[in-house]
Amino acid sequence: MRIKSVGFYKRLILVVVGLTILLSTGFSIALLVRNRSLEKRLDTTQFLPDDVVTVGATELEPAGIVREAPVLSYQMLYPDFKASFYGFNADLVGDKTVFLTFDDGPSEGTATLLDILKKKGVGASFFVNGKSNRILSDQLKRMVEEGHTVGMHSYSHRYNVIYENIENLLDDFYRNYLYIKAETGKAPDILRFPGGSINIFNLENYQSMVAEILRRGFIYYDWNVSAGDASADATTQGIIDNVVNGVRLCWGPAFVLMHDNDKAVLGEALGPIIDTLSKEGYVFKALDNSVKPPMFIYPD
Ligand SMILES: [Zn+2]
Repeated sequence: MRIKSVGFYKRLILVVVGLTILLSTGFSIALLVRNRSLEKRLDTTQFLPDDVVTVGATELEPAGIVREAPVLSYQMLYPDFKASFYGFNADLVGDKTVFLTFDDGPSEGTATLLDILKKKGVGASFFVNGKSNRILSDQLKRMVEEGHTVGMHSYSHRYNVIYENIENLLDDFYRNYLYIKAETGKAPDILRFPGGSINIFNLENYQSMVAEILRRGFIYYDWNVSAGDASADATTQGIIDNVVNGVRLCWGPAFVLMHDNDKAVLGEALGPIIDTLSKEGYVFKALDNSVKPPMFIYPD
């Protein structure tokens, strides 16, 4: 093949550059024209007064055009699995409010915790399971009778099952709901997701799970203070320090994660925790669904 002269390549480059400039200029002009025409259309378009989902024809929409929120199949499951939510009431919660919460009960240790709370005159919240502690179900009734709140924490507490898909989650929590309702006579309206609302088991589908729980009117509570009582090497003093220091660091109300799992160290720590914080002006309350919850931040 004959080698072309330098002049040829120079001309070729000039032609390519020229064509590129011409084409991009033409494209920009076309976009500008299109933009102007769209702006004009926007100016003359009539919008509905309120951008809400409308079912059926309205004065502004011709008959026959129906806009409906799409219903997803899992939203049809367990239609009575829902709660009434009337909004959050910030007036009832001061910055020095502490919500003690106990997960995973009832257990052989529930009675000890309830005795301490009763002696101190303090309300708390229990997020209970249903799986293996049916023999202790009468403790749920005692919780309610003594002014505590009973919330859901799933029936099975099996992460790999309940976070597998949203149908499993609803099935498991519905069983938990019915269990609590049957034992206490009161339908629960709050819950805590095992592992929190965002955990390594539901990273793929926590958005739809959280949305569906909220759509049904339930409020879920994550936490902003962790007692660390569930770890194998937890000590009484360690638990006291975790809770007291954690509560002092909170800017607003404290939501303290603890576990009702029959560990002596928690029983020993609970009294001193309540005494220390009470002296510092903190007030302990049981949760209800008017309390605005702390929620874990969505990961990027
Ligand atoms: Zn748990």
